[in-house]
Amino acid sequence: MDDYKFMRAAIEAAKKADFAVERTVVGAVVVNELGEILSIAYNTAKKDGDPTAHAEMNAIRRASEKIGSKNLPGCTLYTTVEPCLMCFGAAYSAKIPRIVYGLDLEDLAEAGHRDWKIKAEALNQQIGNPIEIEGGVLKEECKSLLVNRED
Ligand SMILES: [Zn+2]
Repeated sequence: MDDYKFMRAAIEAAKKADFAVERTVVGAVVVNELGEILSIAYNTAKKDGDPTAHAEMNAIRRASEKIGSKNLPGCTLYTTVEPCLMCFGAAYSAKIPRIVYGLDLEDLAEAGHRDWKIKAEALNQQIGNPIEIEGGVLKEECKSLLVNRED
């Protein structure tokens, strides 16, 4: 199934993030309706000193640059971690109709990352469920990206 293929691409992207600097490594991929990857990115917030440089934001920004439009209709955002409210908001703003993620916020909290508490589904519900959301794709592989965290 293509969801697995594209999630694997997101996992490979996550491995490029600087674990020692970012501490949470996340990868994201934007794929259009033809199954073409428009962008592949990982989180660079700490490296760049940019709080908006989450993997999903970087992927959405690059995909938009690539097609020359702020709207990404027909696209799917794949991300190794359930999107935070900022990234969910960016996907909504870009009119992305589908988000597929790996591990969820509860898994992140278990690993010691408690920054984000609002579920993507809850955000989606509040705005009338415009986005189809699927979680848990290759969850264990996504979780393994967090295992070596030091603190
Ligand atoms: Zn985010």
